[in-house]
Amino acid sequence: MTEATRVLVLNAGSSSVKYQLIDMLDGRRPATGLVERIGEAGGRLVHTAQDGEPRESRQPFPDHATALAAVARELAADGLGLDSPQLAAIGHRVVHGGQRFTAPTVVTDEVLTEIRRLVPVAPLHNPANITGIEVARALRPDLPQVAVFDTAFHTTVPEYAARYAIDRATADAHRVRRYGFHGTSHQYVSRATARLLGKDPAEVNVIVLHLGNGASASAVAGGVCVETSMGLTPLEGLVMGTRSGDIDPGVVFHLHRVGGLSIDEIDDLLNRRSGLLGLCGDNDMREITRRMDEGDEAAELAFRAYVHRLRKYLGAYCAVLGRVDAIAFTAGVGENAAAVREAATAGLTELGIAVDPELNSVRSGAARVISPPYSRVAVAVVPTDEELEIAQQAYTLVHTGWS
Ligand code: ADP
Repeated sequence: MTEATRVLVLNAGSSSVKYQLIDMLDGRRPATGLVERIGEAGGRLVHTAQDGEPRESRQPFPDHATALAAVARELAADGLGLDSPQLAAIGHRVVHGGQRFTAPTVVTDEVLTEIRRLVPVAPLHNPANITGIEVARALRPDLPQVAVFDTAFHTTVPEYAARYAIDRATADAHRVRRYGFHGTSHQYVSRATARLLGKDPAEVNVIVLHLGNGASASAVAGGVCVETSMGLTPLEGLVMGTRSGDIDPGVVFHLHRVGGLSIDEIDDLLNRRSGLLGLCGDNDMREITRRMDEGDEAAELAFRAYVHRLRKYLGAYCAVLGRVDAIAFTAGVGENAAAVREAATAGLTELGIAVDPELNSVRSGAARVISPPYSRVAVAVVPTDEELEIAQQAYTLVHTGWS
């Protein structure tokens, strides 16, 4: 009998679906792909079989059901169809698991109802995740569908750090608290950092800086997350590509009462027109550093604001952890922008933090230490792999029955 060793990882966003088929025996990826512009004009599917050239097809995808049916067809064309006996589970990225979901969970009707109940706290993300699960369930009703939550890793943040200092009854009535996001990445990277240092995750305290288009920091003590920078929504914390991160909440009242902006306009401003984009018109760090090299002042200001916030969180999390063993940079900016890593850690030798300029400038896709031997804190670049983490969690759950 063929052994079921593969997991299909689905990441369904509002207008896109990303997928990876991962073999848990050897970590190989027989297929990866992306469907873009679902429900919009110009739908596009790019499917890449292992060792193959990307296959692109352009067609309208009116909804997630048509998009996933097309993905199923692409997989089948490579002999990797959803009916394959090698498939052990489908792992779904779900953004918001609230306080209820602290671990990966096999999807049942009751679990879906609970994920739906969380839509008010994640209106942009959970609906698409739910649709992805529903469509996948319809395609393979007999296969375990496992939900892996972005918030789960942060459910260990202590109550005094997760609670905002506002009226408790009001907060509880509306489930207002710090949930944190990017948890799958923070979990994967904190463990991979321990591995890189040849240590058990339980022995090390790590600050993870996930710097993608969205960005968040977390403090992980002995493998357990104790603080994270995103909050009720992914808006809080670091300066991001298009999000402001921390601002005085009074800014919202001011823009509404004095500036005459509606709540929806302020939401759009802070989530989609702020951060690096708001400060200099670009949200891509490559473009910003290029402009800085040409002496562009707005780009310089955006870079400095970005790095300043990062350093504030770095300092704060040193205090939260007391002892820091490692700082890990990850995601698009963290893995590639040496200038950000250098500026974020400059002048911190008093805190035991130093970066070797030569090691920092090496371009590589591998996890690597970039601090000199005398640095008390190991500074590392650790590529994230959320899909692999989702696949591993789903596979472990299906095989051990742990839930
Ligand atoms: P997402 O949050 O969309 O998953 P990623 O982790 O892929 O984001 O990060 C995307 C960002 O990474 C880009 O917006 C860009 O700012 C940055 N980035 C990617 N490659 C480089 C690079 N070579 N140098 C600097 N920044 C980069």
